[in-house]
Amino acid sequence: MTTIASNLQAVRESIAASAASIGRNADEIALLAVSKTFPVEAIREAFSAGQRRFAESYVQEALPKIETLKGLGIEWHFIGPIQANKTRPIAQNFAWVHSVDRLKIAERLSDQRPAGMPPLQVCLQVNISGEASKSGAAPNEVLEFAKGMAMLPNLSLRGLMAVPAPGNDKASQRAAFAELRRLYEMLKGEGLSLDTLSMGMSDDYPSAIAEGATIVRIGSAIFGRRNYMERKA
Ligand SMILES: *Cc1c(COP(=O)(O)O)cnc(C)c1O
Repeated sequence: MTTIASNLQAVRESIAASAASIGRNADEIALLAVSKTFPVEAIREAFSAGQRRFAESYVQEALPKIETLKGLGIEWHFIGPIQANKTRPIAQNFAWVHSVDRLKIAERLSDQRPAGMPPLQVCLQVNISGEASKSGAAPNEVLEFAKGMAMLPNLSLRGLMAVPAPGNDKASQRAAFAELRRLYEMLKGEGLSLDTLSMGMSDDYPSAIAEGATIVRIGSAIFGRRNYMERKA
């Protein structure tokens, strides 16, 4: 078995164990393989081991990979920061976008989604940790943004996404994920029909699963360390 295949198996088993430990069904938790900075060969290896959902963070890097691998039937998710001048290729090439954090971006994605494609599946990214440098809508903007996004014709608003501040303390990891979950429940209480909490990365996904994650976004635990500087979008 290749390293990627055995890493994938270990992550799947760990997701199942985290789910079982709090009485959740592991089938409710989708594993998204974050392939940013890794070559198409790595994606092919994970695909051969049964992985079908992959995520990228940089449009320039993603487009040639998507082109090379078209025909495999990969479901591509965009999870990186979105500049207004990059919305068109995102709307044309991805099935999901997790990182929508402004109405203007949502409107552009809806306008630019090609006719004949299914609606773009989107999450509203929330800045849970309140770090000024971070992407994401402020918690007090979430209701207004989500209502606006839910009305756009070519988007399907599925839920919320967050990237909390990194840290190994389980209690603070869980507190951040619980805050995202609270906002998600609030939106559902306001009548929005949502089913997705996109939260949890290689270092904190057991905590995210304990707080209700339905999609975990895992990169380094599958593909290894990203050993070159991440580019800007
Ligand atoms: C890179 C990235 C991930 C994956 O991070 P790992 O720590 O490698 O699992 C998940 N979500 C987002 C938004 C990312 O940018």
